[in-house]
Amino acid sequence: MEKPEENMGTELLALVRSLKVQIQSDIDLGKSPSYLCMRGEIPMDNSIDVDHSPVESKMLPRKSLSLEEVKKELGDCQRCPLGKLRTNLVFGEGNPKSGLVFVGEAPGGDEDIQGRPFVGRAGQLLTKIIEAMGLTRKDVYICNILKCRPPGNRNPKPEEINACEPFLIKQLKVINPQVICALGTFAAHTLLKTDVPITLLRGKFHAYHGIQLMPTYHPAYLLRNPGAKKQVWEDVQKIMTVLSPQT
Ligand code: SF4
Repeated sequence: MEKPEENMGTELLALVRSLKVQIQSDIDLGKSPSYLCMRGEIPMDNSIDVDHSPVESKMLPRKSLSLEEVKKELGDCQRCPLGKLRTNLVFGEGNPKSGLVFVGEAPGGDEDIQGRPFVGRAGQLLTKIIEAMGLTRKDVYICNILKCRPPGNRNPKPEEINACEPFLIKQLKVINPQVICALGTFAAHTLLKTDVPITLLRGKFHAYHGIQLMPTYHPAYLLRNPGAKKQVWEDVQKIMTVLSPQT
């Protein structure tokens, strides 16, 4: 059993990591984190260890690609071992000009069969969340970190993410949304390059290469923990405040 002092150490570490992410987000979003200047104890340079690499350096210029062209480039992808195991590749779907993109973890069984993202029970809940925002699935764009189903819905492996993430980045660059909503721990950790718990990440906007990113709980988690729906609703309301009306 974990000793109380070890427990405190773990919580303190998580809080420090969360603070680092928040500080970097504030800096990236152009906010002045004046709360740090009061005592002058933390240097106000950009030395905080969060990924800054400009998304442009990883992607082709926006005008040079459409989503169809990204899909064509992906082709019958076998860049990681999941390619041999899938029934269908799940590229993503929705409005290619949407102001809002939902990014989940990876296709599950239903998605693998249908070749569409978020169509199982968790997907139906996501659809309800989108409709509660006054939108439809056709108004937003929905995709995942991985485009092929990991066997048994296990967590994606680093080499699979490395092979697949460049195509997600290209999709995001083409769509250029106002807001990305990262659904669940895995999507939030992969996009923000952090291991801060989702409980600390959610509810706040973070900077993702110039795009505002809101982490929230995955709909599959909500199916197991309906009590967390209230927090997800709070998170999506924050998203609604920054989306322009035409989204
Ligand atoms: S998961 Fe991504 S990289 Fe791996 S085979 Fe599927 S599309 Fe290709």
